[in-house]
Amino acid sequence: MKIVPGARGALYIDRDGVINRMIKYAHGWDCPQKPQDVQLVKGIEKVISWANKQNIPVVEISNQPGVAKRNMSQKTSDAIEGKVHQLLREKGAVIDNTYICFHHPQAIVSKLKKVCDCRKPKPGLLLKAARELRIDLEKSVFLGDKANDVEAGRRAGCKTIIFIHNEDVEHKVEEAKYAKTDYKIVKISEAIPVIENIFKSA
Ligand SMILES: [Mg+2]
Ligand SMILES: [Zn+2]
Repeated sequence: MKIVPGARGALYIDRDGVINRMIKYAHGWDCPQKPQDVQLVKGIEKVISWANKQNIPVVEISNQPGVAKRNMSQKTSDAIEGKVHQLLREKGAVIDNTYICFHHPQAIVSKLKKVCDCRKPKPGLLLKAARELRIDLEKSVFLGDKANDVEAGRRAGCKTIIFIHNEDVEHKVEEAKYAKTDYKIVKISEAIPVIENIFKSA
């Protein structure tokens, strides 16, 4: 990728399982299916507000195939997204930009059925954000909780941090434990010193 003069490092951050908690429904672990089910991961607001204070752009990068799979309407998906940001704002933490992939290769909704370039583990959303927001990918970090996140981050040329927790379907939790990543954390608060070090050395 071409180096853009004046480009800076960003904190890319996954949503489900990192910003908001996954939910154990009767059908199993899933991302929130209704706005009223949204709960923040404890301490994530501190990570984000820390980055806000450092003037590090915070960019959410999320796969949201629920609309494509007809599990929810676009309106509900937007309301859930809005609730996540609202809860953060109430705690003084701001997501500067949000990039979402709504596609799925096996979508039921035909206009979202697509093998796209933006669904993680592909790095499309990170690359698009870098172009639009003048982000230097090599100075950036991706904080995620799944193997797909750190793979997308690595393919984009970012440093990667995986937050390991067990609030998800078992195979994804297991995959995350063995994902190839630069840093692994088990408490979200540990992200702050790790990100600080990455930005110091960048
Ligand atoms: Mg996640
Ligand atoms: Zn996509």
